[in-house]
Amino acid sequence: MKKYDYLIVGSGLFGSVFAHEMNKIGKKCLVIERRNTIGGNIYTEKTENINVHKYGAHIFHTNNEEVWQYINQFAKFNRFTNSPIANYEGKLYNLPFNMNTFYQIWGVKTPEEAKKVIEDEKKEYKTDNPSNLEEQAINLVGSTIYKLLIKGYTEKQWGKSCTELPSFIIKRLPVRFTYDNNYFNDLYQGIPIGGYTQIIEKLLEGIEVKLNTDYFDNKEKWDNIADKVLFTGMIDQYFDYCYGELEYRGLKFETEIKDTDNYQGNAVINYTERKIPYTRIIEHKHFENSESEKTIITREYPQTWEKGEEAYYPVNDAKNSELYNKYQKLAEKEPNILFGGRLGMYKYMNMDQVIEEALTLTKKENNMNL
Ligand code: FAD
Ligand code: UDP
Repeated sequence: MKKYDYLIVGSGLFGSVFAHEMNKIGKKCLVIERRNTIGGNIYTEKTENINVHKYGAHIFHTNNEEVWQYINQFAKFNRFTNSPIANYEGKLYNLPFNMNTFYQIWGVKTPEEAKKVIEDEKKEYKTDNPSNLEEQAINLVGSTIYKLLIKGYTEKQWGKSCTELPSFIIKRLPVRFTYDNNYFNDLYQGIPIGGYTQIIEKLLEGIEVKLNTDYFDNKEKWDNIADKVLFTGMIDQYFDYCYGELEYRGLKFETEIKDTDNYQGNAVINYTERKIPYTRIIEHKHFENSESEKTIITREYPQTWEKGEEAYYPVNDAKNSELYNKYQKLAEKEPNILFGGRLGMYKYMNMDQVIEEALTLTKKENNMNL
């Protein structure tokens, strides 16, 4: 008999939801986490009475009723609506692409006028069957918006030319012919009042957690401690990069406390030109209207990812997806190791998708245990 039913590698959202559900049905779980904090990338920390999103802006949004009910068990959500502003060469534009943006760029006032300008711009580029992000973007919003608000931002975010990137990335953003600056189309949206860390704390209540513990420092010991392992780290690292390295995008966060109560007047401002090295500045207090005489801002700099550094984004293009499929085939041959989360499944997932996937895995495990 092993000491635990499940060893969970990683205390991010995926690992924590899985641990919580398994603990609830009486399974003995141990969570190990290589960072010195729980929560992975959704970790928030209070400074100057402001909940700081330590790993970038996290706005919860979903269309999935079950997921929304689920997360609401662990925090009360406010009615925050994400309405980022884009700054291109000092001029400001509304996001996502909507009638406000079209008016700011072309002076058009009706949906019909806006559609006509986009159609005319598209015609010039003949992008009927978009095969990459550039073609997809021009097809959606025309070449001017592509140049002002997409090309520079995307190329610095991903470190690749838009012609090499998959089109699905830009389809994440709505294009609307109404005056609506809500960045998301989802039915539910908000920020947990008091930050995200409380959610992870509640999910992990009554479960043993070891921080500062890297699974790979003593893999054999950890494998022998539990009947099954849920691994939420990088799947290629798990298999010792035997087919080669998957590509990730790194990030650097530069956080400053400012001696003013309002620095930029909005939670998120994107800098869409290529020559500004950061993609966005977030001002944390605006997520929750936090009362503070000071303010805290974070600049987000995309980085080339090097082995050994934190991997923030999987790069889901054709080449990497093919490589991932090979690792996934290996994973299928390991019945006692489960893979989950953004890095374990090598998938660009939002928090709601992560919860959905974790609950699906839980149900699968429960059926196997019956
Ligand atoms: P992670 O949070 O990466 O957790 C994995 C954990 O495993 C980490 O804590 C890591 O330290 C640990 N780990 C890895 N390897 C090992 C090892 N060998 N040993 C021990 N521990 C290990 N989603 C939204 O819905 N809305 C947003 O607004 C949003 N904004 C985002 C902004 C940024 C900048 C980023 C990077 C992501 C954003 N996301 C957003 C996505 C969101 O962060 C993820 O969906 C979610 O956090 C993924 O959870 P996870 O558990 O899969 O991964
Ligand atoms: N994007 C853009 N300009 C912007 C914001 C986003 O071109 O001002 C593109 C960019 O390619 C980005 C994608 O849209 O990678 C998805 O944006 P999202 O805000 O969903 O990115 P995330 O928050 O996941 O980094």
